[in-house]
Amino acid sequence: MERVVERFIQYAKEYTTSDPESTTYPSTERQVDFMKKLEKELKEIGLREVERDKFGYVTATIPANGIENAPVVGFIAHVDTSPDFSGENVNPQIIENYDGGVVQLKNGVEINPKSFPEILNYKGQPVITADGTTLLGADDKAGVAEIVTAAEILLQNKKFKHGKIRVAFTPDEEIGKGTDYFDVKKFGADFAYTLDGGEIGELEFENFNAAGAKVTINGQSVHPGAAKNKMVNALLVAQKIIAMLPPTQRPEHTEKYEGFYHLLSLKGNVEKAEMQYLIRDHDSDKFEKKKKLLTEIVQIVNLELGKKRIELEIKDQYYNMRQKIEPVMHIIDIAEQAMKQAGVVPRIKAIRGGTDGARLSYDGLPCPNIFAGGHNFHGPFEFVPVPSMLKSVEVILNIAQLVGKLN
Ligand SMILES: [Zn+2]
Repeated sequence: MERVVERFIQYAKEYTTSDPESTTYPSTERQVDFMKKLEKELKEIGLREVERDKFGYVTATIPANGIENAPVVGFIAHVDTSPDFSGENVNPQIIENYDGGVVQLKNGVEINPKSFPEILNYKGQPVITADGTTLLGADDKAGVAEIVTAAEILLQNKKFKHGKIRVAFTPDEEIGKGTDYFDVKKFGADFAYTLDGGEIGELEFENFNAAGAKVTINGQSVHPGAAKNKMVNALLVAQKIIAMLPPTQRPEHTEKYEGFYHLLSLKGNVEKAEMQYLIRDHDSDKFEKKKKLLTEIVQIVNLELGKKRIELEIKDQYYNMRQKIEPVMHIIDIAEQAMKQAGVVPRIKAIRGGTDGARLSYDGLPCPNIFAGGHNFHGPFEFVPVPSMLKSVEVILNIAQLVGKLN
């Protein structure tokens, strides 16, 4: 089991940051370098059908042991780390016995329980952090290490009875492209789990419905000294639209299952202005109503202006996976049961964002998300408690065996 810690530390040192500006897939060659090592390791520990395709995805099979005809379950994790913070020369360190105090790192960076009280849940446990100069990359190398370690245990111990299992490692999740070229059909699983959640116990199968809206306003610029009844200031029209949207439905005023309109950008001048909005809601009816309200507001303001000066373009981005999970709720029951068997309390919550699993679910592979154990992703305060990683491995082993009983 402790192999998961060794593995995680080894993976964390690998530089695999993705790059949103890149025009290649995967976005960075360094992810391919890591995928090659992973491919080699999977072959060495005895996985079958180990493949690395031209897009960088690495997939492999753990053959059935003692059970035929069970559904095929998949486990998926991403290898890239967030471009939000440096992931180069990561130097992981283990605090053998976290004492509940402030964790001092380089450059004056500290993980202070006053700011991050959840670390107190791990008092007395070994906890892994970076050194203050980089992120740690537990998102999602903890998930990668957990899947590889669980695979190794299943292959070495014939006492675990299970059906066929597939594993996949994906690039570019952090830049929203993790599943762009994922071949669901070839992967051949009936359902899967991403190991990409945070704290121990996390189990997620709901995420936002998401759309992007672009509002373009064509004003009319006239010399301000001679502007009476002539000028139409595009920026002021933008301001009017902003004010007509419900002010309580903004990210800074919402939580849990509350959706929002997020003004992502506003740029322009008197002649022309452009706004980008993100529209989010877990509930599909409310999501449709939010899009409709913005559409109506634009119509009203156009009428007031006496001319169609505002153009609105709304594009759906992704949908709540709940719709695709509901018909197969037993895969959530299995994850819950697997956690309980490992002595972990399941914490079911709705994701206030999207996941790779949401896209996969709509591509035909129902794919909830379970914990990999880390906290404070995408920055120098990231940490992962060792027991959380061990429990995650145990949960994978339990899921493998529970799915085997479905035949
Ligand atoms: Zn992640």
